[in-house]
Formats: sequence, structure tokens, C-alpha cells
Amino acid sequence: MDVIYRYDPFAPITARQIPDAKAALDALIQGNDRLKNLVSRMQERTLGGDAGEPIVIPISPMTSGLPLFQGAMPAQSPFAVVLGCSDARVPTEAVFDQSFNDLFVLRIAGNVLGSECLGSLHFALRHMKDSLKLIVVLGHSKCGAVTAAVDTHLSPDAYVNIACTFPLRSLVDQIQIAVRGSSHALEKYVGTAIPNKTMYRSLLVGITAYVNAAVSALELQRELKLYSDEGPQVVFGVYDFETLRVQSSPALLPETPRLRPAPANAEELAKYATEVVEAIMSLEEDERESGYMLTMRA
Ligand SMILES: [Zn+2]
Repeated sequence: MDVIYRYDPFAPITARQIPDAKAALDALIQGNDRLKNLVSRMQERTLGGDAGEPIVIPISPMTSGLPLFQGAMPAQSPFAVVLGCSDARVPTEAVFDQSFNDLFVLRIAGNVLGSECLGSLHFALRHMKDSLKLIVVLGHSKCGAVTAAVDTHLSPDAYVNIACTFPLRSLVDQIQIAVRGSSHALEKYVGTAIPNKTMYRSLLVGITAYVNAAVSALELQRELKLYSDEGPQVVFGVYDFETLRVQSSPALLPETPRLRPAPANAEELAKYATEVVEAIMSLEEDERESGYMLTMRA
């Protein structure tokens, strides 16, 4: 199986066209699909599948956000801001198959919103407002920060070590809103006896990844509205290690948006938490187990 990067210096140069939020959204989702398709083909090949036609990836300095000639320096012009987790398995540009100068990336464990993140965001909005069309909060499955927050919720004794370390406490405390919202939605759906079930912890970690991304998106949208009613739309989603997809629901339904607009208020957030619970509970048990029991082994 061949994967070929091909540069033709005589091909016409076409600059990237991202005129609005929809184009930015499409570029990110198409990029994520490219990643998934490429990896799927390699995985099939690993299992003895046909090599098939070579995959040719056109590349040029201009379309890759790199200088056309030595010494030139492109102006910074990302089309989206992405607030993601620091997790090494979720490199933002690679997840969306984007290149230099495409994304303005903020990464912090648990993709929570802190004052330094907001400062960076305001810098981007002030200095790159012409090119920025979208703000994305990207959570991911099997998140260590989310798991730590769930564990402190389930076993308050474990919180002592975290509470004595202010920076760590700050991270975990911010995720508690999502943990409690997820726990409440889960208990409402399956009954209050659920905390005793073996799968409770893994289910809660899975649900909270989605709800936590939604919480950060809601907070981000509110923060931006303090300054202006205009400005890029905020959307959120979760990168799933099992599927390699960015998605806003654990159930892979075609009508579910891959990246979803930030909830406008607490009611919309609670409704979304319920949707995530219903989606997870609708999965076959073996699907849930393959996804969530692995969390516990990681
Ligand atoms: Zn994480």
C-alpha cells in the first residue's frame, strides 16, 4: 500500500477558501474523515487486505501554510480556534488533518477553560478576527483528567491528594460540574441504584467526556458574549479512540452533528446530558464494554 505526497510546482496555486463558519466546520470534519479513512485502510492492509490504489496526497507550501520561498514569513491566519486536552494521543492538527497556520490551538488537561486560555483566545480574536470563523472545544474518550474528576466524585477520600495540590485541584474541580450533571442524568435514566453497578464508573467517564466538552463550550460562548454579540460560533465534540471520529454523541447516528453548537444555557446543557446518556445506553452492551472497559485498563 502506497501513500504518496505529491508536489507539482507548476500546478495552479489555489489559496485556502474558508469564508464562513460552515466552510470551517466542513474543513474540520472532512479532515477528520481523511484521517479515519487513511488509518482504516492501513488497518485493513495489516490484516491482509488488498493494497488497492495508491493514496496520492497533493501538497504545496501554500496550501500547507508554509512559505513558498525561503525567508518569507506567512501572516498568522488560522480559520479556527480549538480548545483541546493535552493528551498526547489527541494531537489537534492531526485529528482534523490540518496543517501549519490552519488552527490556533489551546491545549490543557481536561479541555477546561482557565484565565490563561481565555487570554490566548482574546489575543487570537483581537489579532486574527478576519480569518477566524469557528471556535471548537474538543474533548476525547478515556480522558485522564475526566477520570480523575469522576474518581473524586465517587470516592471523596481520593480527593485529599488532589485537593492539596492547588493546580491539580483547579483542573479537577472545573470538571465536577460535568461529572455531577452526567451522574444526575444517568441516575434519572436508569434509577438511583446505578452507582452500585460495576459499570457505573466507566459509564460515567464516557458520558462526562461529552458533557465536559459541552460545559466548556457553554462557558466559552458566554464569555465571548460579554465582549460582543458578534464573533465566531462555538461548537464542541469528542474525539473517540475507538472510531477515530470527532462526534457529538456516542451513538454513531447519521443525523447527529459531528460538531454541535454550544448549549445556550443550563437547561440545554441538562438536555444534552440526557441525550448522551440515552445514546450510550442504546449501544449494545459489548460496544459499551469495548469502549469503556478499556478505559479502566489504560
Ligand atoms: Zn484528556
